[in-house]
Amino acid sequence: MDSNPLKLSTDCVIAGGGPAGLMLGLLLARAGVDVVVLEKHDDFLRDFRGDTIHPSTQDALAELGLLDEFLRLPHTDMSRVTLRYRGEDVVLADFSRLPTRRKAIAFMPQHHFLDLLARASAEEPRHRLLRGTRVNGLILDGDRVVGVRAEGPQGPVEVRSRLVVACDGRDSDVRREAGLVPHRSRNAMDVLWFRLPREADEHLPFFHAGDGGLIAIDRGDFYQVAHIIRAGTWQPSAPALDELRARVTRLAPAFGERLTALGVDDVKLLRVRIERLRRWHRDGLLCIGDAAHAMSPAGGVGVNLAIQDAIAAANLLAPALLRGRPTPAALARVQRRRAFPAAAIQALQTAMQRPMVLSRRSSDTMPLALRVLRRAAPLRHLLGRLIGVGLRPEHVRSPRR
Ligand SMILES: Cc1cc2nc3c(=O)[nH]c(=O)nc-3n(C[C@H](O)[C@H](O)[C@H](O)COP(=O)(O)OP(=O)(O)OC[C@H]3O[C@@H](n4cnc5c(N)ncnc54)[C@H](O)[C@@H]3O)c2cc1C
Repeated sequence: MDSNPLKLSTDCVIAGGGPAGLMLGLLLARAGVDVVVLEKHDDFLRDFRGDTIHPSTQDALAELGLLDEFLRLPHTDMSRVTLRYRGEDVVLADFSRLPTRRKAIAFMPQHHFLDLLARASAEEPRHRLLRGTRVNGLILDGDRVVGVRAEGPQGPVEVRSRLVVACDGRDSDVRREAGLVPHRSRNAMDVLWFRLPREADEHLPFFHAGDGGLIAIDRGDFYQVAHIIRAGTWQPSAPALDELRARVTRLAPAFGERLTALGVDDVKLLRVRIERLRRWHRDGLLCIGDAAHAMSPAGGVGVNLAIQDAIAAANLLAPALLRGRPTPAALARVQRRRAFPAAAIQALQTAMQRPMVLSRRSSDTMPLALRVLRRAAPLRHLLGRLIGVGLRPEHVRSPRR
């Protein structure tokens, strides 16, 4: 190990190679901006991550010339979201009338999607991705952020830059180092994740609701199951597992026997957080994606909002970065453009989780929101649009290769 830091200089250093960081790096590099992306892991092979690629993100891939390659990767398409409530099916969201190239959500393990962005970035001469390199501090000039310190496989690294962008997710180290503290909303739910075997040619509804909620993502030979529970109620133990098995069997009787092999250690808890920075930036530094606004998993919108933030940031900041250091006013413009879509979707997630997911242990009556959706097709299309495209969709302006 070398204790003399490796010193690099670039136009923009990005902390985190998730959806936001990789997309921003690719777009800036294509616009001619020199970029260094620092990712703490060696690869993208992590299991519990969002794997929904929405129609608006697929449009962005088409604008980048990457959609055909994306569609050759293993994925399953979903053109409407169906919920089963006590044996009755209700269409929650319909994507068939979206104004997008593809009218379906693609489910794809996130590492395939990130590998695709990393491969495209590797073709850009102005792009460097340093894997296994964890950002652990900021370099300051007075109050201004002028770079980051990190620890890489060969020892310490220092990267000086005109701009630092924090894309390091909901537990952002960079945000903490910058003294930016997110505001947290009251959250009613947590999610338990586990896998259950899938039988060949089996087609179960995506969403089951009743006593809690359950989402079953078809991954070929298994289902990635997300069981929604009241916040703070999961304590891993044998009795809790028995109760979990009973609840899941009530929600989705088809899973009954498959649950016997499930152990306590197979169940992973995701503590859902809905939080948002009041101010996404300080001089020399900008936060986007989950680092600026951690979303609830409801609607599977986190990846797509992160991508939209990255596109907006690249469109608004690439010209400034080519000239020099972006001003605080330029960074504020990114927040002004993207804060509303994140806040509005978070408000919808907060409003929906109680009536639709954490409902009714005793009553057999379908919640009002579901009864309305069952009758009103325009509402299903509206929800499809909110989920599949979101508010204020962004379009790639970086030149296509
Ligand atoms: C269990 C689970 C399921 C989810 N399901 C969905 C879903 O189905 N659909 C959906 O759209 N969203 C889903 N989400 C949310 C979604 O994953 C996030 O909203 C999205 O990934 C945010 O992208 P991001 O790039 O902002 O951050 P992240 O994806 O969190 O990426 C941050 C990156 O930064 C790296 N990093 C962190 N700290 C450092 C550091 N100090 N130095 C260098 N690198 C660092 C991390 O390794 C990571 O690669 C889910 C989230 C979880 C946890």
